[in-house]
Amino acid sequence: MGLFDTIEGKFFCPFCGAKVEDFQTKDLNPMLNVYRFTRSGKHSFREEIEMHTSCEKCKQWVSLKIPKSKLKLIRGAIPREI
Ligand SMILES: [Zn+2]
Repeated sequence: MGLFDTIEGKFFCPFCGAKVEDFQTKDLNPMLNVYRFTRSGKHSFREEIEMHTSCEKCKQWVSLKIPKSKLKLIRGAIPREI
């Protein structure tokens, strides 16, 4: 099954500089939850996840690694701490 979670946040395409805001990841027990990337969360690189999208402007595949501790669950079937 192609289940994934969605991550919302403001990032810029490393290829063309366009804003990209919706990413998908399969690194978080994919359940179609929605997370928001928050810059105020505590910063830890110990646990990183990979997320990806394709840039709407240049169509490049964009893959980023971000610290899991910066994610906040905002919509999900099962509320839980990550
Ligand atoms: Zn781009």
